[in-house]
Amino acid sequence: MIPASSLAGRQVALFGLGGSGLATAHALVAGGAVVLAWDDNPQSVEKAQAEGIVTGDLRGADWSRFAAFVLSPGVPLTHPKPHWSVELARAAGVEVIGDVELFVRERNARAPEAPFIAITGTNGKSTTTALIAHILQAAGRDTQMGGNIGRAVMTLDPPAPQRHYVVECSSYQIDIAPSINPTAGVLLNLTPDHLDRHGTMQHYAGIKERLVAGSDTAIIGVDDSFCVQIAERLERAGSKVVRISRRLPLKDGYFAEGSELFSAVDGRRTRIASLEGIGSLRGQHNAQNALAALAACLGVGLTAGEIQAGFETFPGLEHRMEQVGRKGHVLFVNDSKATNADAAAPALSSFERIYWIAGGLPKEGGIEPLRGLFPRIARAYLIGEGAPAFSVTLGEAVPYEISGTLAAAVEHAAADAARDGGGEAVVLLSPACASFDQFRNFELRGEAFRQAVYAIDGIEPVGGTR
Ligand code: ADP
Repeated sequence: MIPASSLAGRQVALFGLGGSGLATAHALVAGGAVVLAWDDNPQSVEKAQAEGIVTGDLRGADWSRFAAFVLSPGVPLTHPKPHWSVELARAAGVEVIGDVELFVRERNARAPEAPFIAITGTNGKSTTTALIAHILQAAGRDTQMGGNIGRAVMTLDPPAPQRHYVVECSSYQIDIAPSINPTAGVLLNLTPDHLDRHGTMQHYAGIKERLVAGSDTAIIGVDDSFCVQIAERLERAGSKVVRISRRLPLKDGYFAEGSELFSAVDGRRTRIASLEGIGSLRGQHNAQNALAALAACLGVGLTAGEIQAGFETFPGLEHRMEQVGRKGHVLFVNDSKATNADAAAPALSSFERIYWIAGGLPKEGGIEPLRGLFPRIARAYLIGEGAPAFSVTLGEAVPYEISGTLAAAVEHAAADAARDGGGEAVVLLSPACASFDQFRNFELRGEAFRQAVYAIDGIEPVGGTR
């Protein structure tokens, strides 16, 4: 744990006692702050009390005595409207901060030279964070990974000069981390998402920009227009900007051509790494993630050889285009995290002969945005509530069956793919739907897929997972 000593001896209000909120409360207490914590959920309050955290309804508190208000990133700061606790803090002129801000202040105070790589973007944050941490660890660096992935940031080990922090930051976390100042800040991409929580795209992009604006080096994916503008703006302001592109040869920066990664200096290119044959980093979207990792790791002094070695041993993340098994020419891929059409697009773009398991609780727009990828789908197996609507969209374009359950879909898709004579065939769960009609969450849906695949006669598990 990192004791949050920046508020030692001060009174602090805290709202949101979920996993990271409770961890933050403990870090504040360990650092010597006097904390009054609250949550709208009585069970969370009870749990905090049982762990010795002082709780009290902040509606009745005297806000003039608080030096800071620590908010969980899940609680609305601005949109659709500020949470009541935020309004009370603002009315009393109390600063509103989150756990990433507490971490930043602690690093500044204890070990400002500790390398700190912060990652944000609309998509690919977790993959890139895990990849960077994996490469650093494989190269023997003292590495701590957390934030919006895995462990809450204040549960990591305390800052020390040679300790590397790799921290995934959601926009909610950046919004309440006013002094965020990573050694390297990564902004992967920006597309409309979570606009319900951020109002306009401009506002959302503005929050993400803050992470790179505060960085010693800003690593920016320039494959979308918002990020291009941010890179230009930061450069004009005198920041050090490193551009990455998954599809365009750059004059300066790092770019991908297919699975080969290049560095470019004033138009002179050098091949620097390769993703060829690396299953966990397949697809153009992963080239973007790998380029960001390459730039960040070179920035903290790793060699290209160390980075290549890390790419080759990266196990990938569960439920994100995760290769779970193989039988002969058939590969089984779990992309359960793809809960809408946009998230399913990268997986469908990454394979050629796809036996596609889709459906669940559909989102607005259904699978219409994926129409351009339909030619890659040999046959679709539709499950859950979304099945009838999806069958209408597929129409004449793609042969399909309504399988109903995931188990039936896996069984039928495996049998059909085994008969496919066209090279590698892929049974892909990339549902383009939420899971809640049939599973409690996408993780359990992915687990059910894995179990169904493992039950197939003669299957070879891939990647050494359980
Ligand atoms: P995040 O943490 O930002 O949600 P993840 O790394 O968990 O991102 O990946 C979630 C899904 O987003 C993946 O299954 C993949 O379909 C897609 N994805 C991953 N990286 C990228 C990228 N760089 N660009 C676009 N989509 C991506």
